[in-house]
Amino acid sequence: MEKLLPRFLEYVTTDTQSDPYSKTTPSTEKQWDLAKKLVMELHQIGMQEVSIDENAYIMATLPNNLDKKVPIIGFVSHFDTSPDFSGRNVKPQIFENYDGKDIVLNRLKNIVLSPDYFEDLKAYVGQTLITTDGTTLLGADDKAGIAEIITAMEYLINHPEIKHGKIRIAFTPDEEIGRGAHKFDVEKFGAEWAYTVDGSQVGELEYENFNAAKAKITITGKSVHPGYAKNKMVNAIGIANAFLSHLPPSEVPEHTTGREGFFHVHNIKGEIEKAEIELIIRDHDAVHFEARKDLLNDIKDKLNKKYGEYVNLTIEDQYKNMREKVEPMFHIVEIAEEAMKSLQIEPIIKPIRGGTDGSQLSFMGLPCPNIFAGGHNFHGKYEYVPLESMEKAVKVIVKICELTATQIR
Ligand SMILES: [Zn+2]
Repeated sequence: MEKLLPRFLEYVTTDTQSDPYSKTTPSTEKQWDLAKKLVMELHQIGMQEVSIDENAYIMATLPNNLDKKVPIIGFVSHFDTSPDFSGRNVKPQIFENYDGKDIVLNRLKNIVLSPDYFEDLKAYVGQTLITTDGTTLLGADDKAGIAEIITAMEYLINHPEIKHGKIRIAFTPDEEIGRGAHKFDVEKFGAEWAYTVDGSQVGELEYENFNAAKAKITITGKSVHPGYAKNKMVNAIGIANAFLSHLPPSEVPEHTTGREGFFHVHNIKGEIEKAEIELIIRDHDAVHFEARKDLLNDIKDKLNKKYGEYVNLTIEDQYKNMREKVEPMFHIVEIAEEAMKSLQIEPIIKPIRGGTDGSQLSFMGLPCPNIFAGGHNFHGKYEYVPLESMEKAVKVIVKICELTATQIR
């Protein structure tokens, strides 16, 4: 376990920010810097079948140490960091024995990490917190996951008395720009199921995410001199406004939580001749999700009937709720739950209000719930991770390997 912290610090000080506007994989050259280091390290700790492909996807094997066959399982995390905030020159700070008070991240710029605002901090009094210096993100998302997986594998290598089946691990680029799973070779990985180690606080266990689609509404109008426009002008802006007024006002991100779905209008532009609305649809429930699409179609039809054929609508699916892929093999969730409980960690099972790489992987044939990596306040300068939470994640990974070997026939 003593290598967990130095490992993590080494990873976060290597800049691996991804770039949504790049067409290459990995999206940024610099992701290779950490990828190559990780490959070396996997060799060093004694992992087998260590590979890195032309897109920087890393895979490795911890061989079965049993005399019987048990399911091959995997652990997955990503080494890129979010394009939302700088990941250059990360200078992690370590606060031992946290006293529960404000943490001054940056005296010069007066940046303070305060439990008055970030209440989760109160749970970590007495623990060791790793924070930023207030000018970058930390990258615990998801370098904590990588450090934890490697440390767990090293632990199992050094403790052959713990029996386990074949374990596969993978580290991917570009998760933060939604492409972490795109070029993931599920067949080569060869696991029956896997866990992304990419969640937040201790105990998180997630196997449900949104169904997601995006829609674009295009309205064509007719411009006529306003003084002579009666019964002639078609104002696309007015029709756009009518379209929006048919959407349920309470079903928006700022008024929904838990399993409640929403429409989110995130872009609108318009002139008399042409208006465009872009929105996203999110819902955990597949039936409600389809009903939301139907509603958009109904509004379109209604407006076209009223004004003439001026409204065009396109809807494109983005990702789906992994629940339907995980539920048929629910033991993969139960094993993670039991691993946590046996370590006195209370599992926190809740639906993700977003997507994960695990959902894409689940539909690619690798059912893949998500477990905690320990960090908080991802994608910004207030990001931090308690060392103790990372240690717990290591223990959960080890325990999942152990339980899979003993429980699955
Ligand atoms: Zn992540």
